[in-house]
Amino acid sequence: MQSLGIYIHVPFCKSKCGYCDFCSTLDRESVQKDRYVNAILKHIEESSELFTKYMVDTVYFGGGTPTILGKKFLILILKKLQKHFNIAKTAEITLEANPESSDLQLLKRLKKAGFNRISIGVQSSDDEELKMLGRIHTFEEAKKAVDNARSAGFINLSLDLMYGLPGQTSETFLASVNQIIKLTPEHISCYALKLEPKTPLYNVKPTLPSDDEQADMYEAMVNTLAQSGYEQYEISNFARKGMRSKHNQKYWDLSEYLGFGPSSHSFCGGRRFSYTKDIKAYIDGILNDGVVIDEFEEVGTANRLGEYLMLRLRTADGIDENQFVRKFGIDFTPFANRLSKHIENGYASYDGNSYRLTSKGFFVSNSIILDLLTAAEETVRVKNIFNSK
Ligand code: SF4
Repeated sequence: MQSLGIYIHVPFCKSKCGYCDFCSTLDRESVQKDRYVNAILKHIEESSELFTKYMVDTVYFGGGTPTILGKKFLILILKKLQKHFNIAKTAEITLEANPESSDLQLLKRLKKAGFNRISIGVQSSDDEELKMLGRIHTFEEAKKAVDNARSAGFINLSLDLMYGLPGQTSETFLASVNQIIKLTPEHISCYALKLEPKTPLYNVKPTLPSDDEQADMYEAMVNTLAQSGYEQYEISNFARKGMRSKHNQKYWDLSEYLGFGPSSHSFCGGRRFSYTKDIKAYIDGILNDGVVIDEFEEVGTANRLGEYLMLRLRTADGIDENQFVRKFGIDFTPFANRLSKHIENGYASYDGNSYRLTSKGFFVSNSIILDLLTAAEETVRVKNIFNSK
């Protein structure tokens, strides 16, 4: 059976963070929540007929803030998935949560229902930074949420952290990293703050740490986490041995996954598609048998190859040359030539089998990836011309 990951997007939050441009709305209209759940249940049932040959080995409830939905609705959705899809007994079932909606009774009930991994948005250990980001919890409350998750029985815990915040220095950021380490999570995700247009924080135009300062923060974090036993397995993700996120790994391996909910993405059968980001339009569309697809593309060789290079270079495992040739039937030499320049500059390494970015290379990965994508386009074009003769 082919394996499949399932993503459920829950677009509700208690309050909107100042930097957020994710698809989420405030948790004020309980009717909309009911309608959203009905739409998701209907969508799951209707889609499942096409996936009878698949075994689902990861399920991820993301958002938004899934815990805002409450136990009744979350369990209803999970049970619907279990009824209509083949869910492996060992499936990783992740729930994203925020400190303000992670009370012990709720987490206990969800753990009992089958969720076995939890990812909590902590972001910083500095209450002033949390306030500036528009987060509605303190670090004490985040610690309480972690305690609740452990008391509820979650032995696979991931915490989110942010860097590159206005006014942040390497010192204050490392203080947050060390506080997070003290909470002993199995997994840590750490992303740089991006000022997304139209968000309240963007409009304030705060001064962010310079690129050099952010590079220092990043390097200090990677080293500190490594010293504490966290293996970096992707640009922004770190895990204790054996505790990598199986679901996220699917995105980086070009494995198949299926999304439900507004703004969710899917990649199945060589096709990539996403649903509308308009929450109401998604709900109305599903409940009234309307169209909710926003983007759709057949993923051709050039795109697949480009994506593969891009995603693999984000991971610590890098690009396995032989695997690449087996997968695409294309000579790796043009890419090796480009990569050798980056190896000389200390941004990449080669062990005779795989090419990987160094931590210095991870920080400037976008320009290296762009360089390889140019090679990918040229290579596929040459191959197509050659094959058409
Ligand atoms: S909790 Fe997450 S999804 Fe919700 S507003 Fe904040 S950043 Fe956005």
